[in-house]
Amino acid sequence: MEKRPILIQGAIDIEINYLKEILKEKEEIEIGTYKFYTGYINDYPVIVSKTKIGQTNAGASTSIAILKYNPIMIINQGTAGGHGKNIHKGDLIIGKDYMNLTAFRIERREEGSGSDLAGWKMRAFYTDSQHHIYNVADMRLVDIAYGLKRRYRMGNVFQGRIASGEIWNRESDRIMYIYKKYGTLCEEMETGAVYTIAKNFDIPVLGIRVITNNEVL
Ligand code: SAH
Repeated sequence: MEKRPILIQGAIDIEINYLKEILKEKEEIEIGTYKFYTGYINDYPVIVSKTKIGQTNAGASTSIAILKYNPIMIINQGTAGGHGKNIHKGDLIIGKDYMNLTAFRIERREEGSGSDLAGWKMRAFYTDSQHHIYNVADMRLVDIAYGLKRRYRMGNVFQGRIASGEIWNRESDRIMYIYKKYGTLCEEMETGAVYTIAKNFDIPVLGIRVITNNEVL
């Protein structure tokens, strides 16, 4: 391809079907079990990638796509569960940054003293800092996406923090605790890996999520 393509990812079929439909001169490539669809949208080269669910799959397919296609930017998009009472089905979250929802440090307990799940300390292991938050969305992409918010008619558009992990949480109190403590707007399973790998390869990245469920309303 003559220009560096835009990589647009979704984990499951319903998240990429529309993009596949509008892709011109579409060609399908499978590497391992990861599917990539090359083509053009508005005459610009685009790779649509089905990452499959979860951090490992998202990380693997992102790395493969970077090495094979050298994308100019990465857009990860898909469904998510809302955090807080202000976020409704159909709303869009522009992911300025993310926090790892499934990285914990668990303090020592003697045999027989049980497990205090609620007391597990959330933290990030593989970032440079000791903080929970890893600020990696490209702010130019955040601004462009958020600037288009009036064109979105299915709900409200927010910019903020995505919680990402290998977890689907339906406990209202736990969700509200994370929302209040960390200011997360939604939870899903791929952004963490994609932001991390994009940062490590120095490629601009943006996550956009549509809310399909919210337990706290
Ligand atoms: N219904 C299946 C779905 C698995 S996860 C099951 O229960 O096994 C499917 C995708 O939905 C993931 O890629 C994740 O990013 C997204 N997702 C949507 N809402 C979510 C939520 N509340 N928590 C976590 N992931 C969510």
